[in-house]
Amino acid sequence: MNQRLTGFKCKSCGRVMYPKHERCLSCKGTSMGEVELGDQCTLITYTKLYTLPEGIEMPPLTLGIVDFGGGVRAFGQIATDEPKMGMKLRPVWGKLRRLGDKDIYGFKFEPVESG
Ligand SMILES: [Zn+2]
Repeated sequence: MNQRLTGFKCKSCGRVMYPKHERCLSCKGTSMGEVELGDQCTLITYTKLYTLPEGIEMPPLTLGIVDFGGGVRAFGQIATDEPKMGMKLRPVWGKLRRLGDKDIYGFKFEPVESG
């Protein structure tokens, strides 16, 4: 699948958010346009969740905040067991987890192999 990660840009102040928020985090505006976030980002911070809600089969789950440059940040699942601050990642579309008998798909961020 060749999905592109799309962010949401506030039409009032230009702040880009992902995932989508009801209201702009900066100016509370509600008018958003879609904007492509690109295919490379940097890991800013992460947290590992060892206690998972029932029905999720992929422990431990790493969640992180990535930066696409220009202050554009996104929040999502980090697809590595050894996350490091500042590592290069790219958004990939795939199965995130299993919830009951349903597979949940979405974007996660996987390390870009360097060399
Ligand atoms: Zn705004």
